[in-house]
Amino acid sequence: MPAGLLFFAYLAIVLAPLGAAWAQGLAPRTPWDELASGLGLLALAMILVEFLQLGRFRAVTARVGSDVIMRSHQLLARAALVFAVLHPFFYVSPRDAAPAWDASRQTVVDYSWEGLWPGIAAWLLLGGVVAMAIGRDVCGVRYQHWRLLHGLGAAVLAGVGVLHALRAGRYSADPVLGWMWVAMLAIALGALLWVYVAAPLLRSRRPWRVADVTRVAERTWSVTLAPQFKGPFRYRAGQFAWLNIGHSVFSLDENPFSIASAPSAGNRLEFLIKELGDSTAQIGNVANGTRAWVEGPHGHLTLGGRDDARGIALIAGGVGVAPLLGILRELAATEDPRPTVLIYGNRHAGQIAYADELETLSQHHGTEVVHVLSEPPADWTGPTGMIDAALLRAHFDRPERHGWLYVLCGPPPMLRNVEDSLIALGVPAANILSEQFVYY
Ligand SMILES: Cc1cc2nc3c(=O)[nH]c(=O)nc-3n(C[C@H](O)[C@H](O)[C@H](O)COP(=O)(O)OP(=O)(O)OC[C@H]3O[C@@H](n4cnc5c(N)ncnc54)[C@H](O)[C@@H]3O)c2cc1C
Repeated sequence: MPAGLLFFAYLAIVLAPLGAAWAQGLAPRTPWDELASGLGLLALAMILVEFLQLGRFRAVTARVGSDVIMRSHQLLARAALVFAVLHPFFYVSPRDAAPAWDASRQTVVDYSWEGLWPGIAAWLLLGGVVAMAIGRDVCGVRYQHWRLLHGLGAAVLAGVGVLHALRAGRYSADPVLGWMWVAMLAIALGALLWVYVAAPLLRSRRPWRVADVTRVAERTWSVTLAPQFKGPFRYRAGQFAWLNIGHSVFSLDENPFSIASAPSAGNRLEFLIKELGDSTAQIGNVANGTRAWVEGPHGHLTLGGRDDARGIALIAGGVGVAPLLGILRELAATEDPRPTVLIYGNRHAGQIAYADELETLSQHHGTEVVHVLSEPPADWTGPTGMIDAALLRAHFDRPERHGWLYVLCGPPPMLRNVEDSLIALGVPAANILSEQFVYY
């Protein structure tokens, strides 16, 4: 399904409860009451669809990119929070019991405690879940514990939100909309169960073992995994996977890492891992033979379907070189004739990973490798500073490099600068692929 269709599918699903309410043809109330109900229906539908935006469904992540999915998950949750917060304040009709003639509750709003408490609980939980997500990095909770709390909080929130709609909602009292909520809740919780229970169970039949851990640059390690099962692990160069090393297959101790190996080089997977926090700081101590689990592949940072590109420019910042290395290795292994340029930025020379292999690729595959250092040694003759507009212009503002594809991976500020500079050079946005390693 193309990315545009995914957007329309999203709209169709979140607007479906509003459509079902409208189709009931109930007698209209004041516009404020209708607005209040509409906001509540929309917020609840958006909350339930959030469960499908976990960044773990390959049909979606291979088309849109999980950084985009996670960003939309975050922004849409905030929008749902705004709608949910406003929802109760727009009701203007009295709280009295409905007169006998008013079976459809046209003149009153139901404030009975039975319907109200799940609404208040959902309202508070939604605020809590979103606040914890926004303050994740400052609240000091370990990422894995945060994920557990986030998932459990969201599951309870979805349950009480639907209970509130079923007990208090004027439109949700209708069986069609009522069952629609139950079905959406079942799909939402089913998605959680799939990701954290059923998929790991299936994965338990496909274990891996750590075959090699080697330091390749300052605080950066190459980790190679060998499959312990028959059959292929299919992926495209540049994709990433969730890696769980040494824990139970059901553990939340898993982190996303790009695959740095080339698919056509065999069935071993190589990752390039930089020490950052509590899990990655221990990566150099992992013993060969340790059992590992690989969930994936995910990601759209691949050359698939881009045979029209006349050349490939790979632009990396730091460990962002990992997926680009996978792409470069695959292009070399398949003897792709298109010209390639790798611009690889680091702070200092000790951070350059695979310098020798890049040199070999440059000699045998003709890749132009440009190392850029922001803190160069005294004898450095290459470019210095950041990967900026001037450097990009010098390398790509040439007639023979028009129609190239640009593949970017690195820290978010670098990605923003490089994307802006490329667009200023006249590169169409469709010719720029990028992925960041942080979910904001
Ligand atoms: C698509 C993608 C591809 C990546 N590829 C690479 C790669 O090839 N090489 C590399 O060194 N790093 C890569 N990263 C970054 C890597 O996932 C984090 O550095 C790593 O998860 C940090 O874990 P930690 O426990 O050591 O650090 P922590 O201190 O626990 O976390 C530091 C930060 O890392 C992020 N993070 C931690 N755990 C997770 C998780 N389970 N899921 C998502 N984000 C998490 C969070 O932003 C967190 O604030 C990639 C990230 C993404 C999203």
